[in-house]
Amino acid sequence: MKTPIKVALTGAAGQIGYALLPRIASGAMFGPDQPVILQLLEAPIEKAMKALEGVAMELDDCAFPLLKGMVLTDDPRVAFAGANWSLLVGAKPRGPGMERADLLQDNGKIFTAQGLVIDEVAAEDARVAVVGNPANTNCMIAASKAKRLPADRFTAMVRLDQNRAQTQLAKKAGVDLTEVSEIFIYGNHSPTMFPAFDNAKIGGKALREVISDRAWLETEFCDTVGKRGAAIIAARGASSAASAANALLDHVHDLMIPGKVHSIAVKSNGAYGFDPEVWAGMPVRTTAPGAYEVIEGYAMDDFAKAKIAVTNKELVEERAMVASLLG
Ligand code: NDP
Repeated sequence: MKTPIKVALTGAAGQIGYALLPRIASGAMFGPDQPVILQLLEAPIEKAMKALEGVAMELDDCAFPLLKGMVLTDDPRVAFAGANWSLLVGAKPRGPGMERADLLQDNGKIFTAQGLVIDEVAAEDARVAVVGNPANTNCMIAASKAKRLPADRFTAMVRLDQNRAQTQLAKKAGVDLTEVSEIFIYGNHSPTMFPAFDNAKIGGKALREVISDRAWLETEFCDTVGKRGAAIIAARGASSAASAANALLDHVHDLMIPGKVHSIAVKSNGAYGFDPEVWAGMPVRTTAPGAYEVIEGYAMDDFAKAKIAVTNKELVEERAMVASLLG
């Protein structure tokens, strides 16, 4: 039997955690023959820890053959000890009347503390995926605290936006969604992110040969993908959880399989005009389990450049708001 992978999850009793954990434990993230140990962190609040106990009871009751152990804790040092993957989902939600800067500061403190501890106690091959919002900037903060682990081990999730874009393009073209490829997300995991439709392919053909409605691509398509989270809250009365959990599975799964091309937010290297200090969604190719290279060279027209400039500006502004927490 393979050695179990230790997976630390923060916010484990939250909505996304609830949708995510059974799928990790069933093998959907690391494969059907890869055992896992779940190290579950919740906020040190009685209600949250009690809810976590309930989640763990349900996981026990699923009798997953691959689940080789669970740790339930409110201590980051315990949760991240020896973790091969740390999935940072827990974050403070924006309260009524709260400014973005306050949200950035409050979450910045959580991700500062977690970055420090992960660097100290996680496994040699530790990888980190951030979902808790504002995900790109939280990821940057955690990475800035790491002295042992290189910055490329810290990634943030933009995969939900990619999956949303893929489905919208397939619907518009009237094809099965597996026909849509090379649709990548650039920038922030926020309504400013840019799904670069011009580089996408449908059935192997350039997208513009199949979808000629440029106005739809530039407006309705970009808006639908960018505002999908809000549309789900309006319809469901709660934020997306199943699709966010599914996207995190895709994010990690595709990072473990060499050759996969997908979108993740990574430390910018200046490609596509992003500030070299921010974490931005980019197309990447997985080169080895947990490792990747940014795919450079996709052409960007003036429309795409302008969209990238907007999302880059937002990332630079977020960085400025948390400057005192970095390093
Ligand atoms: P969710 O599980 O629904 O969401 C968790 C985080 O994921 C939020 O920051 C949310 O952002 C973010 N997120 C990112 N992308 C998406 C997406 N596409 N759709 C939906 N969410 C997305 O939140 P809950 O409130 O249910 O659970 C959070 C849990 O975290 C709570 O149990 C809380 O106790 C815990 N927590 C744990 C901490 C810790 O472990 N130290 C610290 C802080 C909180 P957004 O808010 O913008 O939707």
